[in-house]
Amino acid sequence: MEHESKCRNLHGHRYVAEVTCGAKGLDKLGRVIDFGAVKAVLGTWIDERWDHGMIVHRNDHEIIQLCKQAGWRVYEMRANPTAENLAEELFRLGTEMLWPLGIAIERVRVYETPNCWADYP
Ligand SMILES: [Zn+2]
Repeated sequence: MEHESKCRNLHGHRYVAEVTCGAKGLDKLGRVIDFGAVKAVLGTWIDERWDHGMIVHRNDHEIIQLCKQAGWRVYEMRANPTAENLAEELFRLGTEMLWPLGIAIERVRVYETPNCWADYP
């Protein structure tokens, strides 16, 4: 919302998220966690909410209404869906999801394009 140039137009990106995990120690196999376990939790969450969906500011009422009327997947954020805010959202929610597994997220990097990204924190 309120973007000053071409990103004011409704458009999409091919995002990539990198999540760095840590733990107090390694498991008996010498891992922080099995990569597949992270993918099962965070990958599934992303696939079900963000993939092929509209990620919008929750105050963007016209777009939300349009998406709901069309039956499109819409994910509402408390801030604009910038790479910075997507990284923060995935860090915050991913931390809650991985906590029961004894895993902490140390950093989330969201690529908006191959050469444009944001890290949180
Ligand atoms: Zn854009």
